[in-house]
Amino acid sequence: MSANPNDSTTPVRRVLGSDDLDHIFCAIRAATGTGHLLNTVLAALYVALTGKPGDGDAGMTASGVHPDRYAIPTSQWQAITTAITNRAQAWGTAAEVALELAMNLMPTQYADPAVPAPNFALPDYRPNEYRLTLTRDAVDVISACELHLERLRAFYGPASDIYQTAMHSWHRNLTSLLTMNTGGHTTVSRDGDLSLFIRAANGLVFALIFHGATRRCTGKGCAALIDDDGATRPAGTGAAVRVHKHIPTYPVGAPRPGTWTFHS
Ligand SMILES: [Zn+2]
Repeated sequence: MSANPNDSTTPVRRVLGSDDLDHIFCAIRAATGTGHLLNTVLAALYVALTGKPGDGDAGMTASGVHPDRYAIPTSQWQAITTAITNRAQAWGTAAEVALELAMNLMPTQYADPAVPAPNFALPDYRPNEYRLTLTRDAVDVISACELHLERLRAFYGPASDIYQTAMHSWHRNLTSLLTMNTGGHTTVSRDGDLSLFIRAANGLVFALIFHGATRRCTGKGCAALIDDDGATRPAGTGAAVRVHKHIPTYPVGAPRPGTWTFHS
């Protein structure tokens, strides 16, 4: 990041013409892999924006074009991003590509309702079948997670925030896991009592981890952490632990609140 104020000028607004959009769409359809897709499509896009001839597959953003110096209408931005991401389904890289486009590669966008969305109709590039293998240990983890949710429900109540938060995080992430296109065969194994390890065919590895809540004392002026056996310790160096009857955020012996999240 540069501190030079000249770098933070307002982006140049450009509406892509029909020829520009045709080039971009052709590059999207003709791509042969994730890297090729990003290189050729972004080259076509930044040639259109800068008016300079591109250098083929070299990747315009890598050769000195700053995406945040340009802005295109939101309708065009969304159509291009969606089409590139859908194309990447062919290689199971849609999620990474979508993130990379939004964070680093695409120009900025501005609202202009007068510019229609281009028609980038693409076939469905997802595989016909998704293959997901669960190890026996992974099946046990999934059963254990369901049992843990049952315990949270029974102890804190079906309408409690603790149960609702845990249940929604599990449901949302399990659905993601089942519907995720990783471009081939995905294997799910155990990564802890309530956590799963996922290895995708494209080499991607990540985990669905249960983050249990830390049990703290909520008593005034007391910064004690309370272990499962009831033992207490200071929350940090110099933190006060009062001599009193501690008031835990959740009872000792009760099922542990928490949520599930994906980690790479
Ligand atoms: Zn306390």
